[in-house]
Amino acid sequence: MSQSSLQLSSFRNGVHPAENKGSTEGLRIERMPFVERYLIPLGQHIGAPSKPCVGVGEEVRRGQQIADAGGFVSVPQHSPVDGRVTAIEQRRHPGGQYMLSIEIEADRFSTQEFEVQPAIDWRALDAKEFAAQVQSAGLVGLGGAAFPSHVKYAVPEGKKATHLVLNGCECEPYLTCDHRVMSEWPEAVIRGTEIVASHLGVERTTIGVENNKAEAAAALRAVIRPEQNIDVQTVQVKYPQGAEKMLIQALFGKEVPAGKLPIDLGMVVNNVGTMAAVADWFDRGQPLIERVVTVSGPGIKRPANLLVPIGTPVRAIIDFCGGLTDDVNQVILGGPMMGFTLSSLDAPILKGTSGILAFTESQTAHPQEYTCIRCARCLEACPLFLNPSRLGKLARVGRTDELQEYHLMDCMECAACSFACPSNIPLVHLIRVGKSALRAEMAAEKKASS
Ligand code: SF4
Ligand code: SF4
Repeated sequence: MSQSSLQLSSFRNGVHPAENKGSTEGLRIERMPFVERYLIPLGQHIGAPSKPCVGVGEEVRRGQQIADAGGFVSVPQHSPVDGRVTAIEQRRHPGGQYMLSIEIEADRFSTQEFEVQPAIDWRALDAKEFAAQVQSAGLVGLGGAAFPSHVKYAVPEGKKATHLVLNGCECEPYLTCDHRVMSEWPEAVIRGTEIVASHLGVERTTIGVENNKAEAAAALRAVIRPEQNIDVQTVQVKYPQGAEKMLIQALFGKEVPAGKLPIDLGMVVNNVGTMAAVADWFDRGQPLIERVVTVSGPGIKRPANLLVPIGTPVRAIIDFCGGLTDDVNQVILGGPMMGFTLSSLDAPILKGTSGILAFTESQTAHPQEYTCIRCARCLEACPLFLNPSRLGKLARVGRTDELQEYHLMDCMECAACSFACPSNIPLVHLIRVGKSALRAEMAAEKKASS
């Protein structure tokens, strides 16, 4: 790391995994050709699953709503193609579980051109109408968590948003989709930012970009007008800087206390890609039907940054990238730190899928685990000042009462502790096991008392 990088601001603790972005960071976004079939799972966001509003056999247009929101914390789904609904049934979700999903067979004679709609006069909308529009677009955070965007923009009564903070850090190794969106579509990012900032009524907007994306920061600065009050601030390269609380600390030196949200400090945090999607909806009526995905890792023959319709099977994307090398034994959706292992290559990409990464056997072999040497490196890595070593030990023996005392549920599962541990103790895995045990115990207690 260069001296100049160390002088930049950051959050406390964290780790420095190898970036491994070199194979895709310079690759322009390519549109992937349309394939034969798409699968839209109805629960690909945080909150209630969407409810189908089309029937099997029905013809649908690209961008047409095919499922309604299942509640306030939920979003509708839209068809990514002109085509025909061929099934509405339980199908395997990329995470392995079964989930109600809509299958669409693409119309092979269609040009798949999206029919641009008249721009929406967003300045004329009140807060409720604005949130309803954002929900109609099916927008969720594109950074990976897939939290419905309209819920973030519905500031609770008694609270006020004064600062919009945009995450352009992309701190996960290998991923470069946000880097390319900022570099190639800066106008869309800033246009969406202007719309959201204006509606929230914030005084300022700050975009945090890590120091390894100078081209992206320059592209954004080049299109910002002075009256927009938008700063692009460069921060150190460090993991997990893209986490909301860490980004706020890195940019402003402020801590969001445990159990509180950024809005308690007057801040709303969003991903930069989400801003481009906001612009697509308000300026051309295009809902969230496609996104940029980084396809990379040592097991991918032709790494790429692809613009892909939501619902495209992973297998088709990998085939478009030349296939996998023979020694691949793990494909991950998302980044290597927080992503999850794909259960089947036939599973589709979701709104929150930022990457498809393929790793070979030598990179995924589980190293031998040793006993804890009480070196405290996991404590020094944890950005939330938890005690991962203690949490791991308690989770192993199922001490749920003590796990709570050690603030188990505050853990955001960033895996920085596991990465730092010289004894190869799978700390984040143990923490997840502890969380499941605690949730099961709480559910049983609730049932017993009802
Ligand atoms: S996974 Fe949890 S305990 Fe480990 S470093 Fe991240 S926040 Fe801390
Ligand atoms: S980093 Fe690993 S070995 Fe060191 S204290 Fe934490 S759990 Fe123990």
